Amino acid sequence: MNNQSLYPEARFWKRKGESILCELCPHACILHEGQSGLCGSRIHEAGKLRSTVYGYPSALQSDPIEKKPLFHFLPGTRTFSIGTQGCNLSCKFCQNWHLSAQHGREHEYVSPKELVLAAKNNRCKSIAFTYNEPIIFAEYALDIIDLAEQEKIPCIFVTNGYVSELARETVFSGLRAVNIDLKAFSDTIYRHYTGGSLRPVLDTILWCVNKGIHTEITTLLIPGVNDDDLSLEKSTQWIVKNCGEDTPLHLTAFHPDYMMTDHPGTSRQSLERARKIATASGLRYVYVGNYPGFDNNTYCPQCGEIVIERKGYQVTLHKEHQHSLPIIRRLP
Ligand code: SF4
Repeated sequence: MNNQSLYPEARFWKRKGESILCELCPHACILHEGQSGLCGSRIHEAGKLRSTVYGYPSALQSDPIEKKPLFHFLPGTRTFSIGTQGCNLSCKFCQNWHLSAQHGREHEYVSPKELVLAAKNNRCKSIAFTYNEPIIFAEYALDIIDLAEQEKIPCIFVTNGYVSELARETVFSGLRAVNIDLKAFSDTIYRHYTGGSLRPVLDTILWCVNKGIHTEITTLLIPGVNDDDLSLEKSTQWIVKNCGEDTPLHLTAFHPDYMMTDHPGTSRQSLERARKIATASGLRYVYVGNYPGFDNNTYCPQCGEIVIERKGYQVTLHKEHQHSLPIIRRLP
């Protein structure tokens, strides 16, 4: 920590004359002295880029890992969940805007060491960076991941995947699992509704899959925006082709919120239709979230028996199941 500043120096930036270029995400913000980036979490201060959220979690709690959602990674365990404030996308439909659209740090300092200790004390089997976008607090996350690795605690990102090519490897390589939002299969929709673009997200998904990081994908189904048959066919066929048929897909229901409070929520029929399309594309594990009454058990694709039974966040693992499913990462 620099004595002259409240904020620790960030990584992933370089000087551009009198300004600073942030290289963490594809926005590539150019910041003059005193300016913050689009994410609201990085500031140009006296010739250096600094993280304004390092060490200041806005939320810390033990959650079922299924809540992230991750259904095939350490099922039935609890994950120590941490978020800060801010986001590098500005989704009009954000379901977590009270954290993502806030900037600053009104909370108490928690060092990476204290955080890993808290995860252990809470008997959590993993640490999840979630609630707001972890890419924007990469420096804090990376320090926690290093310490967690020493304690053999796997770390997870629940992320929009909107990271630069330059930073991707450093930011993601210490992770054991990710849930990446695929908000739409259209660059136009990404640009209009999120302020980002599609390609970097697809590249992050591919990078994680190719590196063997356990990858699940989530799509928030927004009526009239991303839920038409053709888009769903394209996105789910892309997942099958590039990530494999065993990639878990979570289709979640939109509830009117943030800048889209006058937009209708997702109907049961739409969720059922989307699930059918994903299954017809070849995905073997398609789950439905944020809507009651759906069957979210995991079935063995060989014999049809239940392998993991879920009632809400109550999880039963059917260990006696005869076929081993390599897609399920269990506790050793
Ligand atoms: S991480 Fe923040 S400051 Fe950096 S380029 Fe992205 S939006 Fe801009």
